[in-house]
Amino acid sequence: MTQFSPTQFRNNFPLLHLKIDNKALIYFDNAATTQKPQCVLKAINHYYQYQNANVHRASHYLSSEATTAFEEAREKVRAFINAGSTKEVIWTKGTTESINLVSQSLGLDHLTEGDEIVLSESEHHANIVPWQIVAQKMGVTIRVLPLTKFGTIDISNIETIINAKTKIVAIAHVSNVLGKINPIETVINRAKKVGALTLIDGAQAIAHLTIDVQKLDCDFYVFSAHKVFGPTGVGVLYGKEAILNTMQPYQSGGEMIKTVSFYKPTTFNALPFKFEAGTANISSIVAFAKTIDFIKPYIQESIDYSEYEKQITRYCYQQLASIKGVTFISEGTPDIPVLSFTLNGHHNHDVASMLDSYGIAVRAGHHCAMPLMEYLTISGCIRVSLAPYNTYEEIDIMINAIHNIVSNENFIDSNNTAQENVRTSLNEITLDSIIEKFSKIKGWDNRHREIMLLGKTLTRLNKAERRDEYLIKGCESLAWLKIEKTERNTFLLSADSDAKIIRGLLVIVLSAYNGKTAEEIKQFTIEEYFSKLGLLQHLSPSRGNGLRAIVETIKRTVK
Ligand code: PLP
Repeated sequence: MTQFSPTQFRNNFPLLHLKIDNKALIYFDNAATTQKPQCVLKAINHYYQYQNANVHRASHYLSSEATTAFEEAREKVRAFINAGSTKEVIWTKGTTESINLVSQSLGLDHLTEGDEIVLSESEHHANIVPWQIVAQKMGVTIRVLPLTKFGTIDISNIETIINAKTKIVAIAHVSNVLGKINPIETVINRAKKVGALTLIDGAQAIAHLTIDVQKLDCDFYVFSAHKVFGPTGVGVLYGKEAILNTMQPYQSGGEMIKTVSFYKPTTFNALPFKFEAGTANISSIVAFAKTIDFIKPYIQESIDYSEYEKQITRYCYQQLASIKGVTFISEGTPDIPVLSFTLNGHHNHDVASMLDSYGIAVRAGHHCAMPLMEYLTISGCIRVSLAPYNTYEEIDIMINAIHNIVSNENFIDSNNTAQENVRTSLNEITLDSIIEKFSKIKGWDNRHREIMLLGKTLTRLNKAERRDEYLIKGCESLAWLKIEKTERNTFLLSADSDAKIIRGLLVIVLSAYNGKTAEEIKQFTIEEYFSKLGLLQHLSPSRGNGLRAIVETIKRTVK
């Protein structure tokens, strides 16, 4: 492999040339999903144009073409993770489904009351909730490995937590929030000593580390193709053949059977097909083989590629650390380019939405790791996750943008409470004035600024009014909505949120509904209003849904 060139590597990814509102996209949400190289896009197209047929089911030419490509992909994955046999590589639709498969199939058969499952504090919900469901059904206790201040699993008390009662240990190779490599070898060894099975969630590791499942000697290793530059909708469950053979199918139907009869017991197919009920995501699986051809030489063979990844991680970490108010959620530079922090005085969602207005995609919130947020006693954080197609220049642009956010504190003031703030009466902000203003605004950055300014005009609820009963369900940030009926049968709405962007959106919604009767509220077509303001195209689906959650709460409540 020749020397790694980030520019050449980047040129493989057409989406990275995208401009949003005339600004170059800066994609720093790679831990959520990576972008796809041209060869993968081509492979999907090629499959549908020249190979499309169902696999394993017919003797015609196309089916044989598709089946060959499908099984070649399995072999590619086997080699990619050094599994002993393709029987140990099961297609799923992602990490989540792989974990559900193991937890349902193994959990329900192999667990009895009093057993214990061991997880860690930093697990993704995908590696918590499936076990909670099984644990509840089977009367099993979940024990949780704590973390060190550096964000890795703390093994100092491992012998107490992983003990004779432990039947399954399921932990992430690398946390999706902390970006630190866990001491999984130690955990696997300890689990073996007590006869417990091990599942390693490799969702975040797969794009950054060379995985050798035989060397790790874990019982299961799971990951998603989309996190390693492959298509969405494809996941892998690696499992040791001997263990998979003892497990019951997870889902049933076509493909996973040997014989079906109304008069004799149905018999199941051999591995790996026993666990692959129904038609798989064939096109994406075939394209995943091309992904591996493309990415394996980088991840597993190029020291320069890994070195570049480490360098941009270090650089980004140092630059972020130099910003006043940035607090990392754990100590030390992450092992993979996942950097999580909070910015003092700024709501995480405000920082993310402000960066979005610069064309920079990062993520804010709990990152599907609510127990970790609880453990760290934070409500959420901002996560910047890089890939080797990202550049120093992009990092610099983000750092400048964060500096601007910090220094513009006076423009959009910080989390003042109602008492502290100068308030503009909501009455001065009318629906017509908002439509009028937005009709003159071009570009999302200006719209975003206007929403933030509108947020300043919201009359805040006082602390006593921020009651649980007023919490809007379905909104990603905490938001409260108080609805009162007046003597004239109209409604008086007041609301609040810790996030400035949500406060702005609340002003927009409230201006449409405040002072109206139930009938008028029901008649009003809010979608049209949002679309006039150019809102829905730019708000993330969750925040978009949050906007809808506000509307639905109002419509449901007013009578
Ligand atoms: N586990 C970890 C550590 C993850 O980061 C993710 C996704 O972010 C998942 C599991 C779930 O992956 P998927 O949504 O592809 O099933």
